[in-house]
Amino acid sequence: MKAAVLCVGTELLFGQTVNTNATYISHQLQLLGFDVLYHYVVGDNPNRLERLLDICFEDCDLVITTGGLGPTEDDLTKETIAKYFDDELVYDEESLFRLKKYFLDTNRRMTENNLKQALLPSKSTVFPNSYGTAPGFLLRKEGKYIISLPGPPKEMTKMFDKEVFPYLSNKQNGALFYKLIRTYGIGESALETALLPLIHGQTDPTIATYAKEGECSIRIASKRETLEESKATVDMMIDRVYDIIGDYIYSENDEEYAKVLVDKLISKNLTLTAVESCTGGMFASTITDISGASKCFKRGYVTYSNSSKIDDIGVDATLIDKHTAVSEEVARDMALKGLAKANADICVSVTGIAGPSAWHNFVPGTIFVGIAFKPGKCIKDEDIIGDRLCFVKNLDTRKNDRNKNRKYAVLAMIDMVYKTIKDA
Ligand code: AMP
Ligand code: MG
Repeated sequence: MKAAVLCVGTELLFGQTVNTNATYISHQLQLLGFDVLYHYVVGDNPNRLERLLDICFEDCDLVITTGGLGPTEDDLTKETIAKYFDDELVYDEESLFRLKKYFLDTNRRMTENNLKQALLPSKSTVFPNSYGTAPGFLLRKEGKYIISLPGPPKEMTKMFDKEVFPYLSNKQNGALFYKLIRTYGIGESALETALLPLIHGQTDPTIATYAKEGECSIRIASKRETLEESKATVDMMIDRVYDIIGDYIYSENDEEYAKVLVDKLISKNLTLTAVESCTGGMFASTITDISGASKCFKRGYVTYSNSSKIDDIGVDATLIDKHTAVSEEVARDMALKGLAKANADICVSVTGIAGPSAWHNFVPGTIFVGIAFKPGKCIKDEDIIGDRLCFVKNLDTRKNDRNKNRKYAVLAMIDMVYKTIKDA
């Protein structure tokens, strides 16, 4: 089936609100096997909305709208759609009851205009809103479907997951199953080139790659007659993907890299600390975003200035004098000193130029990430070079975007720790 996403709201046209609803819905529709042909945005204007409905339904069987279902004067989506489908708005008893109860439960006074939200097209199927006041609805006519959802993303996504996704999956033949594989260390074009023999000519399962900040995902989806068949098809393809780019994969269940690392540290009973300069605590923050991180991450250090590196952690001042704070030597010393100070199994360190401006002779993106670890626990003996229990690498991102550099540094730190302990 072919579909369009039509977002209503003048704030979207003004650029005040980012159209996250279209992204979300499109992604879900693709998972459900719909071809999404259009994204449209229109202000709170009934005539233009009507014109777009004409355009969308010319090619599409399904149109999903968001926004304009609220209580205020400018919320005209329902009126326009009802008219377009030769229907009229009537009070929906169930919605009226839920609306009154919502205001009672949240101890707020309901103004008269709120009643408008219980007005729905008489022939529609109503989707209740458990997180707000405006219900959504579905209308059908001569093989054409329209689904209308509220604008606030929190309400819209919940309603989509609970009501719309199950409804639409029944509309499609077969049982869809998909997995999202996450990779680090390979760019999207290299990934696609590597997987080309698998992607080429595939109709089921389908393989698609997506670039995210500093990493790439691969979606493998299959739609066969039964769920078991779909799962088996996806699993078979995952094995083939592993054969080609297995070294880059860190999750086949769409998990954050930090989560995968924390789980791995806990399962191996290892503790981690960090000494951060240019990331200013972003690594510690990313790790402690993960529930349960306290089992493996006891403390971290932000040593932003030279004196902090020397006074708080004990970095050798002569190394800073000789090589500057942004150097392989200082990154190594930060890792070694942090390891000793925290008495952890692993210490990861970072020092670099986040940008946007250069510093001395260094271009932004010169970022040294170091790792030090206790012998015996974290790395296979045969992988230890000489007696070195410390590695450093220069990320050299060649970017002058401060935020990106810091995010990339954190990902590289996570990756360095993960690769070190993964097979040990
Ligand atoms: P409405 O349902 O039109 O009253 O929209 C309520 C609020 O939802 C707006 O003020 C926006 O903050 C948000 N919103 C509406 N449409 C979108 C959209 N397409 N993407 C993200 N947020 C939206
Ligand atoms: Mg609006």
